[in-house]
Amino acid sequence: MSPEERQQKIRELAKQLAPQFRAHRPAPGADINELEDFVAEIGYAVQRELAEDLLNEEASRKEGNRTACPCGNSATFQRFHALRVLTSLGLVTVRRAYYRCGQCGAGHCPADARFRLGPSNTTPRVQAQIAAMGALVPYGQVGTLCRQLGLPYRLDLKTGERITQGVGNALAAEPPVPFGPAERPVVIGFDGVMIRTPAGKKEVRVGVVYEPDPDAEETPSGNPRRTAATAGDLRKEYLATTGSRASLVAATGARARARAGDRPVAVVADGAALDWSELDPVLPERVEILDFRHTQERLGEIAKVMHRAPGAAQAWQEFYSWWVGRIGPEGLLRELRAWKPETEVAQEVRRVQLAYFERQQGRMQYPDYREAGYPIGSGAVEGTCRHVVVDRFRQSGMRWQLGTAEPVLQLRAALLTHGELDLRGYTVTKSRPSIATAA
Ligand SMILES: [Zn+2]
Repeated sequence: MSPEERQQKIRELAKQLAPQFRAHRPAPGADINELEDFVAEIGYAVQRELAEDLLNEEASRKEGNRTACPCGNSATFQRFHALRVLTSLGLVTVRRAYYRCGQCGAGHCPADARFRLGPSNTTPRVQAQIAAMGALVPYGQVGTLCRQLGLPYRLDLKTGERITQGVGNALAAEPPVPFGPAERPVVIGFDGVMIRTPAGKKEVRVGVVYEPDPDAEETPSGNPRRTAATAGDLRKEYLATTGSRASLVAATGARARARAGDRPVAVVADGAALDWSELDPVLPERVEILDFRHTQERLGEIAKVMHRAPGAAQAWQEFYSWWVGRIGPEGLLRELRAWKPETEVAQEVRRVQLAYFERQQGRMQYPDYREAGYPIGSGAVEGTCRHVVVDRFRQSGMRWQLGTAEPVLQLRAALLTHGELDLRGYTVTKSRPSIATAA
């Protein structure tokens, strides 16, 4: 459309809408709601009109009398077919050039592929909007959201679900890479959280890659104290899957490696969330940090049997938390080696915990980690579990099939990582475009 044609079009539209404008214009003294409704309705009418014109202009464009058939032969133009297309401005009727192949007998409208129409003949923009809603709220509430937001279209629940799943699958096939090279030290963490399936509970594995703020103050559990100023800028990248832990660990490690370049990568975890050797293939060089909160929990278990009086037990735990966190694990190891418990239970606690801390002391050099700007607690990954999984998957009564949970996980992880991601790049195109006029 040339600039002159566009001007002409706008004049035509104005002329066409003028009577409606005059007839429905709210009277002086109208309520704010009437004014806004009026503006929205006129706006949508203009936009839909314009969309219908432009889409028809593009769809009816014949690429000559013959075009390539997907089978490899050539198809011949037959006639124009009307289709109701669901745009973000509402339904518009579009006449598309229809071609039929003499060899395979199949017919197609090249415009459908050019428009990348998805389920129920939705445009990529509608699909992006629906998928974003389906990622955030249960499918059954997407219709409510559409109404409350005043969107000029409606979709049935099943189509909404198909679109959300399709976009999630497209994201899984080609995950977006939202962050470039690291600006600060790179840290990764892992955790798991249960969801319900018809066959019982199933663990969802989550990972997070981020760049902590080295200037952030620390909370007693070793996590940075979040402030409004630092909250948005940790460059957090979320990963999640219903698949194996090894696959999630490999994918998370690979993302960290790609971002970190020559910078070291630190991993904050405990033995329950991660088998450290799973990182060997993707991240042979790494700084391993035993989650400080996990260390504190074990100190609490020792304190309970070492000191019967609750006050004394707590004082011991607090003192050694401080010591290990500020000076390192050696003092704790000396204390445990010198401890001569009398009861069998206490002897067993000493044996198990001393062996554990002896194995883990290389991952307990907390003063060094602080110095290097690494967090020593796994708060970031606990947030990941809540944001990616719990908020959407653990609402009351929810049961998930793994096959349909996975794409929603991918979608949520992508949107939480990169809120401005353009989902139109990840929409679904129907494999068999419809040729008939929809009702
Ligand atoms: Zn053919």
